[in-house]
Amino acid sequence: MSTAVAPDVVPFSPPDIGGAEIAEVIATLEGGWLSTGPRVRRFEEAFADYVGAPHAIALNSCTAGLHLSLLAAGVGPGDEVITTPLTFCATANVIIHAGATPVFADIDPTTGNLDPAAVDAAITPRTRAVIPVHYAGRPVEVGAFQALARRRNLALVEDAAHCVEGVADGRKIGTTADFTCFSFYATKNLTTGEGGMVTTASAEAAELMRVASLHGMSRDAWSRYQQVGPTRYDVVLPGFKYNMTDLQAALGLHQLAALGERHARRVQISQRYDEALAGLPIGTFVAVPPASVHARHLYTILVDPQSSGLSRDDLAELLAASGIASSVHFPAVHLHRYYAERFGFVRGQFPHAERIADTVLSLPLSPALTDRQVEAVIRAVRSAFRS
Ligand SMILES: *Cc1c(COP(=O)(O)O)cnc(C)c1O
Repeated sequence: MSTAVAPDVVPFSPPDIGGAEIAEVIATLEGGWLSTGPRVRRFEEAFADYVGAPHAIALNSCTAGLHLSLLAAGVGPGDEVITTPLTFCATANVIIHAGATPVFADIDPTTGNLDPAAVDAAITPRTRAVIPVHYAGRPVEVGAFQALARRRNLALVEDAAHCVEGVADGRKIGTTADFTCFSFYATKNLTTGEGGMVTTASAEAAELMRVASLHGMSRDAWSRYQQVGPTRYDVVLPGFKYNMTDLQAALGLHQLAALGERHARRVQISQRYDEALAGLPIGTFVAVPPASVHARHLYTILVDPQSSGLSRDDLAELLAASGIASSVHFPAVHLHRYYAERFGFVRGQFPHAERIADTVLSLPLSPALTDRQVEAVIRAVRSAFRS
């Protein structure tokens, strides 16, 4: 009996954590200040510098950042906010958290990103804000969204959960909207386990978000702690518990320092996939324009049963049988039960987003993947198409 060779098990998006992150977490544990403190302040300053934004507010998630951005933009009951159906549910959920109504507009099928013309057509007198998502790490057409927001008097909130490294037409993501929200969730390009950041040029909005992120207290715990003598604070609004901890910032500081090098590895793996899968009957999105940088958060392929000879779900199952993880980004948000039942959305309303949602598959991508793992993915995808 021959022993079967164990397949290479390839995880979908393993975090890339180095010695510097581990040492900083230990130093934080030994330093005696675990919650929001000096490391969060340093991380905010370093992140604002990296992006080139006047203000960066560290939070416990991107979802919290999106919620606070809508509140700071004055979005509330009776308002509508337009976003893409091809996103994680959090992008739309926060619109409901703010008391507003989510409105969807279709995507550009060649990029997966929200189509500015479709947003324009969905604007009503109640529209207050628009939330484009830099899908998979590809920057949206920021110039078109800025012009639209100015012309129709809308707040522009970018969901940059996938796009820390992104550049749009020569401009760094994080500087092209009223508010830009980043995610540091475990699978994201820069991770703090859980975490997020908002960048903005508005000092007033930054201060409001800072206060709202910690119970609505007028002074945060670290500045109270630094003060000698009796500490006082006032509650100026019923805030949330959205603050980042120094343990998270300890990771973030070194994740940020290593971001360029790790992004280069993401680009390298993506290019290897591009060249190795080029002959297969799969669809892909168009290349980014020359003055833009794709953050390479996800590597997506489009598997249409008619042209590919197998369905996306068949391919995912075949890959799983070879030990290769994959994922779907994303099921269309408007067709989730809550959205369909509460707002009456039905299949057919956003055909481009629905077609991508039905055919897209994300392959493993992380700087922590070895060349051997990348080649195992390629072999498994090729052999699925031969079967
Ligand atoms: C991950 C993600 C979020 C949510 O980020 P959290 O930090 O987990 O709150 C929002 N939008 C998109 C597109 C995401 O992928």
